[in-house]
Amino acid sequence: MTRVVIVGGGQAGSSAALKLRGLGFPGEIILIGDEPIAPYQRPPLSKSYLLGKAAPDALLIRPVSLYREKNIELRPGCRVDRILAQARRIETSTGRLGYDHLILATGAKPVRLDPSVGGALGNVFTLRTIEDIDRIAPLFQAGRRLLVIGGGYVGLEAAAVAAQSGLQVVLVEMADRILRRVACAETAAYFRALHVRHGVRILESTAIRQLEGSGTAACARLSDGEELAVDLVIVGIGVKPDVALANEAGLDVDDGIKVDELGRTSSEGIWAAGDCASFPYRDKRIRLESVPHAIDQAETVAANICGAQKPYVATPWFWSDQFDVKLQIAGLNANYDRVVVRLDRRPGVASHWYFRGNTLLAVDAMNDARSYMIAKRLIASGISPDPGSVGSPATDLGHLVKSRAQAQAPRQSVRAADAEHKRVGSAARSERNSRSSPSA
Ligand SMILES: Cc1cc2nc3c(=O)[nH]c(=O)nc-3n(C[C@H](O)[C@H](O)[C@H](O)COP(=O)(O)OP(=O)(O)OC[C@H]3O[C@@H](n4cnc5c(N)ncnc54)[C@H](O)[C@@H]3O)c2cc1C
Repeated sequence: MTRVVIVGGGQAGSSAALKLRGLGFPGEIILIGDEPIAPYQRPPLSKSYLLGKAAPDALLIRPVSLYREKNIELRPGCRVDRILAQARRIETSTGRLGYDHLILATGAKPVRLDPSVGGALGNVFTLRTIEDIDRIAPLFQAGRRLLVIGGGYVGLEAAAVAAQSGLQVVLVEMADRILRRVACAETAAYFRALHVRHGVRILESTAIRQLEGSGTAACARLSDGEELAVDLVIVGIGVKPDVALANEAGLDVDDGIKVDELGRTSSEGIWAAGDCASFPYRDKRIRLESVPHAIDQAETVAANICGAQKPYVATPWFWSDQFDVKLQIAGLNANYDRVVVRLDRRPGVASHWYFRGNTLLAVDAMNDARSYMIAKRLIASGISPDPGSVGSPATDLGHLVKSRAQAQAPRQSVRAADAEHKRVGSAARSERNSRSSPSA
């Protein structure tokens, strides 16, 4: 019987296993993960779970019973130590195992603060696993002083939860502004103002010189000479793809395990998906760190193991929740040369549209599900609205979609644009209606 072994019990691993069964794969599926529990969602870790509003069971991607029902063997708490690619076997902490197909879904590991700077002190945490949060959450008590290092989404989400829990929060960012790597200055300004309104102190262009204390950090010395008293520190300075197994097995690695458009690595019978994999996108090779990507790429790999020969077409999107703001991002903003700001009459509702020339690349939508839905569809269909009109709140985005499609496409696609216009309207309505349900 054909056997698929999946290494990594996270979002990508779970999605690949379930999709294989969904497609009628009749062989054995073994899902191995080194964390002690069944596959769970990470996004709530820095949101509802840290806030104490979600129980551990609510994090599970699927109930354990479903894997049993689908005849998927889960092996939590088991580490894969080595791949013997020639022999199509792996060595694990509980023994050897053969495979016909191996899917690497090993995810990413947080970058840690160097021990020489104080990164090994007892109250310095990273945010990646449920175990991390279970250690941090009891320390989230009103009045405590939290230092967050790093102004990316995870750091900002942790800062927001801490401020909501009554902690005194300082966030330091080494770059000249928060969200430098992932968003435009306008989006950074929006979130800086949001945090400042909620009492978070944000220090940009500021690095940590040293965390000081015996056993635990009590003081942080900053690059501008300031000394901050701290009770706990969260380090959110990015992640690195977990390529340890792939490297050791001699697979090609290029900022992640290198896969082709079908999800195949450089070694026959070995596939990769999710945070750990880099893949061809347009004329580049990229790696994404998001749930929708982990699901879609893993499902593509599952389909290709079943013989579909289906290339993976990434349609990047992402979200972040901070205080009462839901940020939704459609597309990839790499190489943008202009940002158009679209404000709304409702306070706090805005969207930032990234263009290169006249081509729409991406949109950040803040509490603006309609702009997000329209942008997502426009980007997927390769339609760019006129940058000059998009910024005016008087411009009906739905009509823009229609008129732009008519101008860009031959007559036959006008009907498609009509249908698109209607679909966008109803999708945005249902998105709005579901906003109150907890997504992450
Ligand atoms: C705090 C936080 C908040 C986030 N918020 C969002 C969000 O709002 N929206 C969004 O889209 N994305 C968000 N993300 C990112 C998203 O969670 C990841 O992109 C996604 O989980 C990637 O899934 P994955 O399966 O590739 O990797 P992972 O979820 O990291 O799973 C990989 C698993 O493989 C295991 N593993 C590694 N090596 C081995 C081995 N040798 N043997 C056995 N097991 C191994 C790891 O321990 C891990 O359990 C967030 C991430 C974090 C940490």
